Amino acid sequence: MEESELYIKSNLIRERNLNMNPYLHPLPPGSVRLSGPCGDTLDKIIKNRLLPLEMGHLTEPFRLRNEEDYLWRCEFWGKIVRSMILAWRSTGNAELLAKIRLAVKDILSTQTPDGCISSYPADKQLEGWDIWGRKYVMLGLLRYLRDVERDDKIETTLCRLADHLIAQIGEREIKTFGYHGGLAASSIINAFVQLYEVSRIRRYLEFAEKIIRGGCSTRHNIFEAAENLTPPSEIGNAKAYEMMSCFEGLAEYNQAAETPLYPAAVPRFYRLLHFHELMIHGTMGARDCYGELDYDCRYKQTRTDSGMLGETCVTATWLHYCEHQLMLDGNVMAANDAEITFLNAAIGSARYDGAWFCHINPSPLSAFSPKIPAYEQQTGYGEDCCVAQGPEAAAMAPYLAVMASPDGYAVNLYEAMEVRDLLKITGSYPYGPEAKITLKIPAPAKFELKLRIPEWWNDRCSLKVCGKECPAVPGSWCSCSREWHPDDVIDLHFDLSVRRIEAPGDPSSEAYMSGSIVLAESSRLPQSRHPLPDDAEFTDLPPHDGFRCLKAVSGGGILGDYASAGNLFRADDLLQVWFPRTPPYHTPYRRGFENPPQLKS
Ligand SMILES: [Zn+2]
Repeated sequence: MEESELYIKSNLIRERNLNMNPYLHPLPPGSVRLSGPCGDTLDKIIKNRLLPLEMGHLTEPFRLRNEEDYLWRCEFWGKIVRSMILAWRSTGNAELLAKIRLAVKDILSTQTPDGCISSYPADKQLEGWDIWGRKYVMLGLLRYLRDVERDDKIETTLCRLADHLIAQIGEREIKTFGYHGGLAASSIINAFVQLYEVSRIRRYLEFAEKIIRGGCSTRHNIFEAAENLTPPSEIGNAKAYEMMSCFEGLAEYNQAAETPLYPAAVPRFYRLLHFHELMIHGTMGARDCYGELDYDCRYKQTRTDSGMLGETCVTATWLHYCEHQLMLDGNVMAANDAEITFLNAAIGSARYDGAWFCHINPSPLSAFSPKIPAYEQQTGYGEDCCVAQGPEAAAMAPYLAVMASPDGYAVNLYEAMEVRDLLKITGSYPYGPEAKITLKIPAPAKFELKLRIPEWWNDRCSLKVCGKECPAVPGSWCSCSREWHPDDVIDLHFDLSVRRIEAPGDPSSEAYMSGSIVLAESSRLPQSRHPLPDDAEFTDLPPHDGFRCLKAVSGGGILGDYASAGNLFRADDLLQVWFPRTPPYHTPYRRGFENPPQLKS
């Protein structure tokens, strides 16, 4: 089948999901192609990480069912195939599609007559990461059905896999299996909701409902906890990635079901994460040596004793959670958060060539430290959860860049891109101040264009629609509803003057941002003396030495963008984000850890 036909067919599949009236929803496959920093990073990832992968290696544990050590080789097939499909969705890369098809055929062949697809031997099934791994197999196959093409054989395989799991669990509660107090196994909710959406078989939605009503954690009901505004570090066992995945499942359930469950939990949990956990570079996770736990990170990100910071799996899952906010109610805060995550933590987790990723972000952020490449998690297997998830984070950028809204479209990102039959963006943004949107519609049409206005928008920024100045409010949507004509132009001018950001809860520290770009000191650049004087000035330099963005500091030194700093992944390639400030501090000193969450063993 021709790729263009595939895209058209996918549009029809997507139509089914439109019935659920999400506020914003992604455009069909093949619509959005980015060529700014996110697009360039994705291209490198496809070329140097995804295409060279040997897919048979990922299917092997399922063929042999010999994962006897209760580990998670079972997650890699699904995670990687799902990220490949998301990468193909934007680029239409034919080689990638051929690989995806082979991988799908291969995993189907591992299903035994009882319906089981598992990497665990029969006597160990349901324990350890088994259910989690089956979830990722389901998510990989479901994304194939949703974004590539419908296929009855795959749908039947999925139904048999799901029925086998339901029968294996029987009357027991899924949260009593696996790791992290039930969070990992319970996060299979979204796979069952998506299977219901594809098959319309009610028992899959009912199974998801049962998991949700069970509360997902052996400690307490995590959805009730979020509705009661419990800080994330005190919900479940605080495992950021698995817990967010459960809330993702609830978000999907509430879009698919007639009657939502815990309707306040999804938006409240988003705000809890934003205000308790989100760090300056757009990721979360601290406390342990892997950067995987909610820990009031927003208030502890300048500390040197917070453990390692920012698992890349958390970054990718956070982007999905932002997607759910946009679909739920078009919350512009989620679009602003997503941009910061894309331009810093997400593309900054990839090595300069896109071939590998870091598991943890540099830790601490308040002293020179390196981006450490992820190591293989199971000796001899050669994979790491975050190396598998890194491509997903980058491939989310075209997925969310421009979305459909009830009355038109919403523009979330302003890097250079083409959106088929809709618009083209050119200009120097996000590293330079200009973005020019040119309408590329085939004929005049009346619709609404919602433009995301960043929170740092000020009166030195400007927005002109067809040459006419438009008022814009920081941190809002600017809605332009009119009859658009081919080649109509919207000009955005951003003020990218360097801003000093006071650390939340720690007024003795500051960081520097230019627009949505976090700036860092780098061992590859001449360094400044800190604290910087109040009257320090910053001058743009042309990008060089692998940096996407550079700012010379008056008095000496150069700051570079966080994403490019440290991206050689070498022990001598160091960066720092938080710096001491010059007293006096105008904000009352308010550490966020006066009431530390209970540490669990
Ligand atoms: Zn990970």
